[in-house]
Amino acid sequence: MKPNGVGFRGAPDRRTILSRREFLAASSLFALATMAGGCRTPGVTLGGEPVIDIHQHVGYSGRPDDVLFAHQRAMGVTKTILLPAGRDARSPATHQGVANGLQANCLGNQACRRFAQAHPGKYFYAANEVPTLEDAVPEIERYLKLGAVMVAEQKFGVECDSAEMQRIYDLAAEYRVPVLMHWQHGMYNYGFERFHRMLEKHSRTIFIGHAQTWWANIGGNLNDPSVLYPKGKVSPGGLTDRYLSDYPNLYGDLSAGSGLNALTRDEEFARGFLRRHQDRLLYGSDCNDWAGAGAVCQGAQTLAAVRRLAPSKPIERKLLYENAHRLFKL
Ligand SMILES: [Zn+2]
Ligand SMILES: [Zn+2]
Repeated sequence: MKPNGVGFRGAPDRRTILSRREFLAASSLFALATMAGGCRTPGVTLGGEPVIDIHQHVGYSGRPDDVLFAHQRAMGVTKTILLPAGRDARSPATHQGVANGLQANCLGNQACRRFAQAHPGKYFYAANEVPTLEDAVPEIERYLKLGAVMVAEQKFGVECDSAEMQRIYDLAAEYRVPVLMHWQHGMYNYGFERFHRMLEKHSRTIFIGHAQTWWANIGGNLNDPSVLYPKGKVSPGGLTDRYLSDYPNLYGDLSAGSGLNALTRDEEFARGFLRRHQDRLLYGSDCNDWAGAGAVCQGAQTLAAVRRLAPSKPIERKLLYENAHRLFKL
């Protein structure tokens, strides 16, 4: 700003000094404000507690990479696992291409690996491929050798006990990484009611259940398997609850609208469920919004639900961090 000089004859130096002081004062205020702002950022706060998100995607519904990065920070996530799509294919397993990009424009192995490499220590990646492709196993294995921490997201129109899927279960056991499966009646991974046979036969494989049919079966009152988001009171004895109780090689992914619905439809039941399976449930977001907070961000709402419903602080820490930290060695 240009000094007008009026009434300030002989005072320009003082003005300069004052300006410098003002500048320094403003700078420290700015620094304080930044720190305070940082403290309000969920990523840095809640006592600086770390959170692992086991379920995000690169290119999700066209979301740019820098927006994904900011989204995860806004949610307060400190480590994220990126789940690739398989390659584009037109076959029964992809419903003639409908399932390409995990049905949401998600990108594949290479894009996830690149994103993780650009943010070491913060982002990790899984390996994936359409299971019915002839070279599915070598393609997944290539990325496991490079450092992928899981086989995911398996979201294809295949029988859960098909020869192709069993090859993938064996590969995962060999590399000691979990396989994450998207269960959706009539669409992805058929035969949830027979899945116990796979859990028994592939007892060295760690399985992670996810999505509508997995979470719809939290209750025993599921009369129609095509109801993907059942509401209201949960009656005990659900297949998912029983599987988790009976098979130590099975984990649950709390992500997506299905996970949030299962937690919130009957909060009293949810508290007991979280207590029963406290060592084998994992926080994931799987949301495609750009905000990372508020009503549009289902991942932020799932975080809030876990914090509200976990029966104790130690259990909350297991669900949001410790179980994934142990399972994926992150
Ligand atoms: Zn999914
Ligand atoms: Zn979100």
